[in-house]
Amino acid sequence: MNNKPVLTIVIPCYNEEEVFQDTAKQLTDMLHVLMDDNLISYDSSLLFVDDGSHDRTWDLIESESLVNPFVKGLKLAHNAGHQNALLAGLTVASEHSSCVISIDADLQDDINAIRTFVEKYHEGYDIVYGVRDSRETDTFFKRTTAEGFYWVMRKLGIQLIPNHADFRLMSKRALDELLKYKETNLFLRGIIPLLGFPSTKVMYDRKKRLAGESKYPLKKMLAFAFDGITSFSIAPIRFVTSLGFISVLLSILVGIYAFIQKQMGHTSTGWTSLILSIWFLGGIELIAIGLVGEYIGKIFKEVKRRPRFSIETNLYSKRDKKKRLI
Ligand code: UDP
Ligand code: MG
Repeated sequence: MNNKPVLTIVIPCYNEEEVFQDTAKQLTDMLHVLMDDNLISYDSSLLFVDDGSHDRTWDLIESESLVNPFVKGLKLAHNAGHQNALLAGLTVASEHSSCVISIDADLQDDINAIRTFVEKYHEGYDIVYGVRDSRETDTFFKRTTAEGFYWVMRKLGIQLIPNHADFRLMSKRALDELLKYKETNLFLRGIIPLLGFPSTKVMYDRKKRLAGESKYPLKKMLAFAFDGITSFSIAPIRFVTSLGFISVLLSILVGIYAFIQKQMGHTSTGWTSLILSIWFLGGIELIAIGLVGEYIGKIFKEVKRRPRFSIETNLYSKRDKKKRLI
């Protein structure tokens, strides 16, 4: 059979020295099983993307690549963030693969679902979303904030697959389409459902992290959610505009009230409403300026067209590999 797909599994890694060996072993075993079952080609591989780690992650990737022919590596020059590291891996993988699967390095996502992903690919699906059946292993805080996030996104009309993170399969043609989106503020989970290829979901149980800590502290999580909302929707700014209209209307009413009071000789009664409206309007203006600034910030980033990642070493290229062996 020479029409077996070449699968590349892309794994972004940021300070993952504690889990790397285990992850590499489990995923290599999975590749072997899929190859033996004639589901994927022997040219399939694992692509570990080191997202500017400060620990030994890259050393481990590199040495593993010398002994394990299925392991490839990509080292980003600095910490570009999970989404950009993933994009770097997908971009490189698209040149070598018929389909790609992205999975986190901590294997919280059930790797047994990979087999079902590939089977769905064979059935003709271009995108297979891994959907968490239960989030019991996540903290209560993470679960509720995630639910709140999906609720807000839905209300804003942004199509997201609930409980789907970045564990998914994409065919080469879906991936090529995705790579045409050149925006700097990248929110893959929002863009991929927009692509519109045949897609399906596979349910799985989310596990606890193999080892190490979450690389998504509250600050990064909030930034991610905020980015998701402002990259896809102008609803927040519309909301502020309507608040502006309401406050103008209110101030007119207060003005009329103050005028009548003045005519009746109660000059001091307007003071409270005056102070209130100054504070009220001042607050609204500040929110509005902040939000407008957020969008201008995005435009600023877009027009700069900075590269979203810069690859330092690419073990796909024979030159780099030889250089390392010397
Ligand atoms: N990650 C990354 N760059 C970052 C932060 C995280 O490449 O700046 C990777 C990390 O190594 C992991 C994946 O993104 O493979 C998801 O991170 P994590 O498991 O810490 O997030 P959580 O599961 O807690 O949401
Ligand atoms: Mg994780």
